[in-house]
Amino acid sequence: KLSYRLETVTKYIPQDHRLADIGSDHAYLPCYAVQKGIVPWAVAGEVVEGPYQSAKRQVDEEGLTDKISVRKGDGLEVIEQEEVDCVTIAGMGGALIASILEKGKEKLAHVKRLILQPNISAITIRTWLLENGWGLIAEEIIEEDGKIYEILVAEQGNEKMTYQNHLEKGLLFGPFLLREHNPVFRKKWTAEKKNWLTIVSKLEQASDTAENREKKAELIRKIELAEEVLEHEK
Ligand code: SAM
Repeated sequence: KLSYRLETVTKYIPQDHRLADIGSDHAYLPCYAVQKGIVPWAVAGEVVEGPYQSAKRQVDEEGLTDKISVRKGDGLEVIEQEEVDCVTIAGMGGALIASILEKGKEKLAHVKRLILQPNISAITIRTWLLENGWGLIAEEIIEEDGKIYEILVAEQGNEKMTYQNHLEKGLLFGPFLLREHNPVFRKKWTAEKKNWLTIVSKLEQASDTAENREKKAELIRKIELAEEVLEHEK
């Protein structure tokens, strides 16, 4: 059975798109998407030998070798130009996901939809999307086994519309998640704020370097923003 996290990612794969799942590990996501009849065909990409072998084994065992092409390589280099319509990248940090998108930019020219699930630092992905002409069309925040995950769905097009005049807050919290403001969202940012306060008090005891002052100022800004957002609706 697929995790609730990955099932939520698959919800956003458009029917009959050709899919590439990058950093696929056991290839659970593409196997599920093909078995459920969501996509006719998929690529499972992996850069590390162990997970690449796990993906091959899984696809073999499920009898899906003609429908899922398991490929070894770094990020988007495993796909050919115009080969897929939709790309999923899940279960990594936001900075790693953004760097995979950045390195493989030219492979994205014909991709219609990206579904990204960062474990941390969704802000890095939102910033990359904004700077590269991808517009967010949906976001979700979910909790599974005590962990909180964000899912970002983007299509090529006017990104600025999504943020209107809330760019700073939108990039950090997510424009759709801000609007929805559900209990998981509150839980995440209440915890983050507490964590930032702890770091600030440690920085106050640390040596007074320019770097520490800058870090502190940045955290204080984020704490202010979180307070504003959490205050907004109780
Ligand atoms: N996507 C699966 C999920 O969400 O459950 C697996 C997540 S696993 C924590 C991250 C996987 O990404 C690892 O198997 C790792 O080898 C792979 N990975 C990391 N960097 C990669 C890259 N540049 N290209 C392809 N795969 C990568």
